[in-house]
Amino acid sequence: MIELVRASGTSLLQAFLDGETDPAAWVGVDGQYQVVNAAHAAMLGLPPGEALGPRTDRLRCGLLGRLECGAELAAYLHRLDGGAVEPADLELAERGTPRRVWRFRSTPLFGTDGELLGWRETWSEVTEAEHLRRSRAEQSAAAGAARRKLDEQLAARDHFVARASHEMRTPLTAITGFCRMLEDSDAGLSPVQRQAVEKIAKNASILLQLVSNFLDMARLESGTVPVSRDLVDVGAVAREAVDSIEPQFREKKLAVEVELNGLPTIVSDRLKLRQILINLLGNAVKYTERGEVRLTGRHAGDAVELSVSDTGQGIAAEHLTRIFEPYVQVDGEQNGQVGTGLGLAICDKLADRLKARLAVTSRVGEGSTFTLRLPLEPPADHAPAPASGAY
Ligand code: ADP
Repeated sequence: MIELVRASGTSLLQAFLDGETDPAAWVGVDGQYQVVNAAHAAMLGLPPGEALGPRTDRLRCGLLGRLECGAELAAYLHRLDGGAVEPADLELAERGTPRRVWRFRSTPLFGTDGELLGWRETWSEVTEAEHLRRSRAEQSAAAGAARRKLDEQLAARDHFVARASHEMRTPLTAITGFCRMLEDSDAGLSPVQRQAVEKIAKNASILLQLVSNFLDMARLESGTVPVSRDLVDVGAVAREAVDSIEPQFREKKLAVEVELNGLPTIVSDRLKLRQILINLLGNAVKYTERGEVRLTGRHAGDAVELSVSDTGQGIAAEHLTRIFEPYVQVDGEQNGQVGTGLGLAICDKLADRLKARLAVTSRVGEGSTFTLRLPLEPPADHAPAPASGAY
């Protein structure tokens, strides 16, 4: 463009700038507009034929007052008046409807000896890009606010569930305790009364189990469950779990096979391991009407694998990935079992806390196998916790 000005004077430059649809101008070293195109003249409100005049005055009179915020441009013009030779690249929004946003660029151009030749001034309209940017920013602010609100609501819900479950657990424990006391005592209960007490105890313990599941899930989801590092005799813990389910095996007349020979002692959280196994064994009993439940353990490389297999109804392939999600029950209430759909989700989260993996294979009508793979040594980042009792 410089060569163009030198060689052909302003008329060719005028033609060149007139080819631009956005405002564009050439400013001389004296700070006077030398050539402006039609769009520039219109933007500054220059009447045709009027002398173009000093750039800083023209911009102040013709534009500054129309800007939403002209402080940056005003400061730049002030520096130019003081003799500064520096470029500017500003985004300027015009007030009014439609609101227009411009990118103003002012660039000093120098000759080969470093002498100032003049200034190129261009304005490109960026209204749409700015509009898009604004609406994206607004959307992401709105999404952020919605996410924060949802997080607050979830935290409030979890707090409520944890609180309510805890409050319900105490009276339910009392009910089952007193029922057991009545059953064991010589209170002279008639057979009908004894049956009623048994029913109360059974229903109360179902409720207690449900409430405990809600409480466990709320705690696990809040991420506040500590993990203890106990020396765990895996075989002994697995046998304890079988023993605690024994009455249920007997009630359903299911055979129990246990193969737990030669299992090592590992560093893990004993209570959590026990809870996972009780849950898996409980499900095996719940979803098996005849046949057997088998608990096997083996030392497999750097891990111990514990498998709970049953000869029950099995789980269709399309449900296998979803059963570890909270509140998911295959066939819902139609499977005729009391549950919340939380048992496996709790097992999965507990396994996660133990750095273990829980997997399932199953065939409908043949049975299921749930396998827990526990590391022999928890990884170094396995958060130790103060020796805990229950969680
Ligand atoms: P719940 O037993 O309370 O419904 P779980 O989270 O323990 O919830 O199990 C989720 C679903 O997975 C159950 O509803 C059941 O359909 C299925 N399931 C779990 N264990 C077994 C099993 N051993 N055999 C067949 N289905 C099972």
